[in-house]
Amino acid sequence: MPFTMTAAALKIDHLGKRFGATAAVDDLSLEIAPGEIFGLLGPNGAGKSTTINMITGVTRPQTGSVSVFGYDNRRQALIARRLVGVMHQEIVIDHFFTVRQAIRIHVGYYGLPDDPGWRATLIERLGLGPHLAKPLRELSGGMKRRFMIAKAMIHKPRLLILDEPTAGVDIELRRSLWEFVREINGQGTTVLLTTHYLEEAEKMCGRIAIMNRGRLVALEGKETLLNRLGGRRLIVTLAQPLATLPAALAEDRSLLSWDPDHLTFAVAGPGAVGERLRRLALGGLHIADLDMRKPDLEEVFLQLTGNGNHHPAAEP
Ligand code: ADP
Repeated sequence: MPFTMTAAALKIDHLGKRFGATAAVDDLSLEIAPGEIFGLLGPNGAGKSTTINMITGVTRPQTGSVSVFGYDNRRQALIARRLVGVMHQEIVIDHFFTVRQAIRIHVGYYGLPDDPGWRATLIERLGLGPHLAKPLRELSGGMKRRFMIAKAMIHKPRLLILDEPTAGVDIELRRSLWEFVREINGQGTTVLLTTHYLEEAEKMCGRIAIMNRGRLVALEGKETLLNRLGGRRLIVTLAQPLATLPAALAEDRSLLSWDPDHLTFAVAGPGAVGERLRRLALGGLHIADLDMRKPDLEEVFLQLTGNGNHHPAAEP
């Protein structure tokens, strides 16, 4: 398919990859529209890295296909590769080059003409200016990350993939990184982001996909996702601490978590709160206080990946 304005920035179609008995990615399909900041979340081992490696062509899929702005990443590999920039999780860099040399080398890698203006912009925006003459091995961890972003962006990719970009990164760098991502997104770069920091996905992403054991378990707008499990949380503070969870509550699917002093329920629809309180009173529980709030992604995530009903007091 030729490039058109309507082609998806990324189209993943029935993608699959097994490693022995493990289905790392299992019949995964999703589309990202140009201009989105899209979050791909999931616990360790969910298949996120394998998915990214199949997008960039590092790993060969066993089923399905990937296209970037309408270009198939295998049949039109060269064009597709130029359209994508990846910042990998692990810091892998050519230690002996200086920052200036390494950035120039990466321009050449894509077979593209050097654009000194863009290079200068990246260096300036990422604060790499004072470090240009240093060998990469002498950079601090934070500076290495900044260099890795410059490297991922040097060929002006239209789709930028950030794989856990803020893992182990200090707050200051994290903030400036997100500012930069918003800025380039504002200029038209589509962003695919994986992160363990759910609050970051909540802040940065419009739509969020959640993977678990190779499969897509949710793909929704952030608001929809947050409202998905009943919309609201009811937190009950008990007047007397619980030693054990009463049997009726242990079987209650809407009880999301508890500790001796608090019970957290998912409540949906009109009348749900009243009905909940009535049942607690019937069960002989005395209520000291109530609080309502919207769920955060962490809770939605735990429920969707089947690790809900998390009872900390029941853990060893
Ligand atoms: P995530 O990035 O979400 O943590 P991965 O894509 O790294 O997940 O892994 C998905 C599954 O595939 C895991 O069970 C992992 O152990 C397995 N896996 C990934 N790469 C390989 C590999 N090269 N060889 C064998 N198993 C692998």
